[in-house]
Amino acid sequence: MTYHVTLIPGDGTGPELIAAARRVLDAIGVAIQWEVQEAGEGVMAQEGSPLPDRVLDSIKRNGVALKGPITTPVGSGFRSVNVTLRQALDLYANVRPARTMPGVRSRYEHVDLVIVRENSEDLYAGIEHYVIPDVAAESIKVITRPATERIARFAFAYARRNGRRRVTAVHKANIMKFTDGLFLKVATEVAKDYPDIAFEERIVDNMCMQLVQKPELYDVLLCPNLYGDIISDLASGLVGGLGVAPGANIGDGMAVFEPVHGSAPKYAGQNKVNPTATILSGALMLRYLGEIAAAERVEAAVRAVIAEGRQVTYDLKPQPDDPTAVGTKEMADAIIAALQ
Ligand code: NAD
Repeated sequence: MTYHVTLIPGDGTGPELIAAARRVLDAIGVAIQWEVQEAGEGVMAQEGSPLPDRVLDSIKRNGVALKGPITTPVGSGFRSVNVTLRQALDLYANVRPARTMPGVRSRYEHVDLVIVRENSEDLYAGIEHYVIPDVAAESIKVITRPATERIARFAFAYARRNGRRRVTAVHKANIMKFTDGLFLKVATEVAKDYPDIAFEERIVDNMCMQLVQKPELYDVLLCPNLYGDIISDLASGLVGGLGVAPGANIGDGMAVFEPVHGSAPKYAGQNKVNPTATILSGALMLRYLGEIAAAERVEAAVRAVIAEGRQVTYDLKPQPDDPTAVGTKEMADAIIAALQ
């Protein structure tokens, strides 16, 4: 059977990372027909929107996409394409595994976290405005029962499906009694339907400290949108950096896979950055498609190349200016060789 997958190269370092991931996935032998759809800064200049309808239509048609990072202008300019895409397709669950890997330098061992981040509301609802231009601004934080219930159910079902033991809900309900209070209340209610999975809650500031001190104690972290965004970068840092952190945005019958990291524009076109996060996002996609054996082969090949530590990019070397670091393309070549 042939899978039809939308491929969004993105911008900045995105195109070179997606090219690397595509080569690895093509080498695995699963029949994938790629439908390339450009989005981002360059498209904005040509088509007047950084996320034209043709991109969304393609994902809706295929049900699955692999995406490179896309730059978001800070402070002004167009709204984040990444956020718009997740909202337009109602990809409500953002799943970001963070696991220590031999060969990736980290201060920790035995970290194996999965951040399940609510993707559709909270402060990302985009409801903000100036009360007095340049003097006072307001942003509205939206938390609803239906959105919280579906992300909580997703987290518990994910834990059950993947042999996980514990879900920790992350919140600031001591201060935001209505919004985060509702999130915590609904998560606690949903937990009762999953008695086989342990449930606990942590206030977000304490959660950050606990993660830095003893990350190996935690398992699945259920987070509202903003805390999930921050904590997933923290978790990436715990296991060795953004270069190795994959992600998935999942809705009902639709999913977009992308690295946690951004477009790292200062390295664009230099064949320098680490393709691992994008390649492992491709492996998550294979799992989603039910191609478990193929996903495991990709993951094993990535682990082997990283554990050997020779043909890896600068960020995985002891010193960032290590002259033996290889480029994006060469690391992908090594992973393809390790697949054989
Ligand atoms: P970034 O993740 O692009 O880069 C931060 C730093 O992390 C880089 O300078 C680099 O040192 C390191 N890094 C990132 N990816 C790496 C890789 N693959 N290999 C090695 N090192 C890597 O974060 P940023 O600079 O804050 O954001 C740049 C742009 O990306 C912004 O416009 C931001 O909005 C956007 N962004 C997009 C997404 C997305 O597409 N989903 C996610 C986050 C940020």
